[in-house]
Amino acid sequence: MLNMKHVEPVRLSLNTRFKFKCYKGIGCFTKCCSNIDIMLTPYDIVRLKTRMGISSGEFLNNYTYIHIDEKATHPFVFLKMNEDAGRECPFVTADGCTIYMDRPANCRYYPVGQASLKKADEKTNETVTEEFYFFVKEEHCLGFKEDSEWTIKSWRDDQGVDIYDDMNRGWKEILFRRNLPGHELDEKKQKAFYMACYDVDRFRRFVFETKFLEAFDVDGKRVEKMKADDTEMMKFGFDYTKFILMMEETLKKKA
Ligand code: SF4
Ligand code: SF4
Repeated sequence: MLNMKHVEPVRLSLNTRFKFKCYKGIGCFTKCCSNIDIMLTPYDIVRLKTRMGISSGEFLNNYTYIHIDEKATHPFVFLKMNEDAGRECPFVTADGCTIYMDRPANCRYYPVGQASLKKADEKTNETVTEEFYFFVKEEHCLGFKEDSEWTIKSWRDDQGVDIYDDMNRGWKEILFRRNLPGHELDEKKQKAFYMACYDVDRFRRFVFETKFLEAFDVDGKRVEKMKADDTEMMKFGFDYTKFILMMEETLKKKA
C-alpha cells in the first residue's frame, strides 16, 4: 500500500518533465527496497514465477501474502518482505535487485506512480478512463537531485512498463468494477478471483482437468494457446473473473 504522505499531490501528464537518476553508487542505493508494501499485478507473478522456474502456487506461497480490500472486497497480492527489523525485499542485495529484468511494475514506475479514474466524458456522457501520474518523493531518495532529464513518457519507455500495462489491462478493468451495495464479493468469489487472476497454474488445472470445457464454449485456437502460454491463460482468467462477477458476457455456456 502506498504511503500517501510521500505522494506529491500534483497530477502529471506524459509530457511532464523531471530530473532523476538512479545508479549503483548513489548514496541511497537500494534504500527504496526495504520497509515497503509492493502490490503485485497478475503479469508480475507470471514474470517472476517463470524467472524462478517454479509454479505460480509455489511463488504465491513463498513470496506473497493476500490483502482483501475492505471497500472493493477484491483480493490483492503483496510481496512478502523479510521478517528482519529492516523488512528488506527478498530480492535485494548490496549489488541491487537480483530480479531486475523481471522486477514488478511498481518497482519499474518508481519514483513515478500511476493512477486511473473513471469519469463521464463531457461531450458524450460516456464513461471514460483517465490516466494520470504523480511523484512519490521519499526523504531517502537522492535521485531527484541528479541531472538526467526525463518526461514521464521517456521514463515509461526506459523502464519497459508498456507491456505490463498491456498485459494487466483486463485485470485493471475488473478493479474498476463498481461495488454496488449488496454486490460485495463473498469468500467463494474472492477465492475464484484469486485463482483466476493470480494463480495461473492452478487455474489451468481447473480449466483442463475438470468439466470446464464441456460447460463453456471456448475457441479451439485459444484453448491450444492457453495450454502452453501463461499470459494467454492469465488473460482467459480475467475473462472468467469478469464472467463470474457478472460484469460482462465474456464466456459462452454451451447449449
Ligand atoms: S523487487 Fe527489486 S527493485 Fe523491487 S523492491 Fe525488490 S529488490 Fe527492489
Ligand atoms: S532511493 Fe531513489 S535514487 Fe536511491 S536507489 Fe532507490 S530509486 Fe534509486
